Amino acid sequence: MEKVYPFPNEDVEDLLGELLERNLLELPEPKKLDEVDKVDHPKFCKYHRMTNHKTVDCFVLKENIQALIDDGTIKLAGNQTVENKATADANPVFVLKK
Ligand SMILES: [Zn+2]
Repeated sequence: MEKVYPFPNEDVEDLLGELLERNLLELPEPKKLDEVDKVDHPKFCKYHRMTNHKTVDCFVLKENIQALIDDGTIKLAGNQTVENKATADANPVFVLKK
């Protein structure tokens, strides 16, 4: 069964960009150096930087985003708000625009 995440698939790429910008997430070392720039490949994952699956299908990335939501580092705004009182003020708040 497919796991359901509190963020829509179409936002995964944007989330990745935001998280990298805020240094909340680090990209893993690319396994295939000859694939890191194949960004136009239909199955290029911007997280793993290889042509194995699309970024939106990257469950490792989704698990990492979920972990950041779970520990309160990021918070999704709008109708998918994840509240965390203890850390909401101390940490940068990611606002997911709808
Ligand atoms: Zn991936």
